[in-house]
Amino acid sequence: MHTVDPSVLAPGESHALTLAPDLGTPVEVPCTVVRGGREGPTVLVTAGVHGAEYASIEAATRVARLDPATVRGTVIVLPVANPPAFFARSIYVNPLDGKNLNRVFPGSAGGTFAERLAFWLTHEWFARADALIDLHGGDMIESLTPFSIVAAGHAPSLALAEAFGLPLLVESGGRGMKYAAATELGVPAVLAEASGQGLWPEAEVERLVHGVRRALQHLDVLDGTPEPAPVRRLATFAWLRAEERGLWRPSVSGGDGVREGQEIGVLSDLHGTVLRRVVAPQDGVVLFAVESLAITEGDPLVGIGA
Ligand SMILES: [Zn+2]
Repeated sequence: MHTVDPSVLAPGESHALTLAPDLGTPVEVPCTVVRGGREGPTVLVTAGVHGAEYASIEAATRVARLDPATVRGTVIVLPVANPPAFFARSIYVNPLDGKNLNRVFPGSAGGTFAERLAFWLTHEWFARADALIDLHGGDMIESLTPFSIVAAGHAPSLALAEAFGLPLLVESGGRGMKYAAATELGVPAVLAEASGQGLWPEAEVERLVHGVRRALQHLDVLDGTPEPAPVRRLATFAWLRAEERGLWRPSVSGGDGVREGQEIGVLSDLHGTVLRRVVAPQDGVVLFAVESLAITEGDPLVGIGA
């Protein structure tokens, strides 16, 4: 099955499906459609765009177990949106073409695997949804403090992120990213991040599940009103990248506060000779920090929100 039309599925039931989209390479994508017994919006919840962000994937599998009797409208969950990356335990990129899926949206029908997957996700899924919740986290080599990202100035997406309730919120451009492509199609979207380093601690998984439930309340899919949560908005999100390959020894982790000019890590060559002392370009909070000793030219090192 290439895709599914939720309207043909029985209302008041949950349907676990395995999709086999025609992307030029055989791939099976798990999908759960939770069709409520009452009319309402269609909300798409995705995870696993990055295959090793495990807290988000685990959270999505729990969201897929929503009781249809509590749902107004339809909740569609794709908990492992990029199966080749998941099974390869791949960091950042899809193993079939070396591309970062969350940099190629809205994708291309005749492109490489990641571009075709992006095209399918765009046109078969979130273009037909009323809202998109895309779950992420720090990748296998990244520590991270929970935050969300929305397209700058898009009021319905900002409201969705405020409802999700992660403590920090970045407004960004996000070219090629799923939330940005959704917003361009007029679909409110939030990218929510928690945990990292290949870990899925219960508290972080439940943080994401709780956030999705709050967002679904905001969208009137679930009963109730989310309690106001303190959300601090950040205007900038600076990414520092490695200018050379070598050894990276960070001195900060996700969640640390930094001051402008503070050393946040040292890049050395493979003999241990210091190439560069990396300093914070601004005061702010470390949203993610790469904790891998091995670093290649162009790799992200630290992301600082301010
Ligand atoms: Zn991610």
